[in-house]
Amino acid sequence: MSKTMKAVAKKTATAGFEFIEAPIPKPRAGEVLVKVRVSAICGTDVHIYTWDHWAQNRIKPPLIFGHEFCGDVVELGEGVKGVKEGDFVSVETHFTCGVCRFCRTGRGHICQTVEIVGVDRDGCFAEYVTVPYENLWVWDYDVDPEIAAIQDPYGNAVHTALACDLVGANVLITGVGPIGLAAIPIARQAGAKTIICSDVSPYRLELAKQFGADCTIDVRSENLCSEVSKATRGSGIDVLLEMSGNEVAINDAFKCLANGGTASLLGIPSKPITIDLATAIVFKGATVLGINGRKMFETWYQGQALLQGGLDLTPLITHRLPLERIGEGFELMKAGQCGKVIIYPDGSDL
Ligand code: NAD
Ligand code: ZN
Repeated sequence: MSKTMKAVAKKTATAGFEFIEAPIPKPRAGEVLVKVRVSAICGTDVHIYTWDHWAQNRIKPPLIFGHEFCGDVVELGEGVKGVKEGDFVSVETHFTCGVCRFCRTGRGHICQTVEIVGVDRDGCFAEYVTVPYENLWVWDYDVDPEIAAIQDPYGNAVHTALACDLVGANVLITGVGPIGLAAIPIARQAGAKTIICSDVSPYRLELAKQFGADCTIDVRSENLCSEVSKATRGSGIDVLLEMSGNEVAINDAFKCLANGGTASLLGIPSKPITIDLATAIVFKGATVLGINGRKMFETWYQGQALLQGGLDLTPLITHRLPLERIGEGFELMKAGQCGKVIIYPDGSDL
């Protein structure tokens, strides 16, 4: 095996990225070395690429970034259990401390000192990456590697949607980026009655239709509340899956929420926002849930069960690029002209 690998790195604290030749990392005790088969671009990677406010405060260059991937275990560090060389794996990207009170009470998704691969330590836009064995999800059936590569955003959608009682519910998904799109078939399979999606991107609303949304609303030209009222015959929304992080979307969505409704919030506003708490939540007797990451590993078992039950994520994947062309992928993501952009480290599968 050659001792170096191709990788995509943020070398200095400025916008953009660089292709580098990096040493192949050595798995430490409790870690494995994974040969990346397929990776995917996340919105977080675009923040790192554009070097926005969040990235400037969080990322410490030099860093190989990227965190959505699957691959093959090629080397085991000392003390690794439950996995062997040759296993095909996806990875829970939040590495938890295991000792804080949240971890110790089965709530690792809200761990106090979480470390994220490709954010706090070297990631997967490379040929190889090391990860703790506890974070591996070993596939025991033949899964499409492109689907295995997007388990992180899919898991966000599973976690957000299944935190609510969806059976017979009128569901509104605000923001059909990749995660909002994935929430459509999840809500459908979980028994939702009506699935309504809103966005400001015709491209993405079209994808929402392909995923079987009952009603799509372009909020640039249509009024969210009156369209929701028509689609639900005046009943309003029982479950809001907020996946835009947009202040206007959030305020309008709460107006559509029926009394006693549940709002499951995944979207992250770029700055603090204002909401009329009394009208939006208190007097409605609404339940509001904050969703962080994926439950470890409850969300993963739920997600796999849905996939094996026939849930099809393939329409989510709209572009495939070799690592050498990852810059085009970042630009597509910035423009919102895509679902998931898949990256092949060697490009030979294209
Ligand atoms: P994305 O940016 O691709 O999707 C957001 C969508 O919202 C876009 O399609 C955008 O056009 C749409 N939008 C913008 N303004 C809108 C409006 N007024 N009404 C309706 N839609 C509007 O992001 P994504 O990768 O799908 O992630 C969804 C959200 O979840 C983002 O805010 C992301 O930061 C957040 N996120 C949270 C977690 C978590 O653990 N809480 C994890 C991953 C992502
Ligand atoms: Zn912890």
